[in-house]
Amino acid sequence: MNKREQNAGFVCEHCGAQVEPLTNGSYRNHCPFCLYSKHVDVQPGDRRSTCHGLMRPVGLAYKRKKGYQLVHQCLRCGVVRVNKVAVDTVQPDDLAGWVRHATGPAGPRSRVGYGGDRSR
Ligand SMILES: [Zn+2]
Ligand SMILES: [Zn+2]
Repeated sequence: MNKREQNAGFVCEHCGAQVEPLTNGSYRNHCPFCLYSKHVDVQPGDRRSTCHGLMRPVGLAYKRKKGYQLVHQCLRCGVVRVNKVAVDTVQPDDLAGWVRHATGPAGPRSRVGYGGDRSR
């Protein structure tokens, strides 16, 4: 497979969007709109996985050297992968939209661990 084929656009299998290839020199491996990916790689970019399950975005990680990274989990085999977010390109990742969707209208779950008033 040559580089031009690898960097071709694709139709997202989750939301059906037509996804354009990245214009910043990297290889697009997830949808910029719903952020779903597909389990096609054993090593990033090698396309040697036989799973081909959809990979759901489950979180954001922040690495000091690499910036924000998306955490994906495969819906078929359960493997977890960390992927670079796509920025400085056509169709950049809609991270703000995903965070809104993932946390709901009430915002992040800041009350996790809140056990009620036990001061009495
Ligand atoms: Zn999508
Ligand atoms: Zn998989």
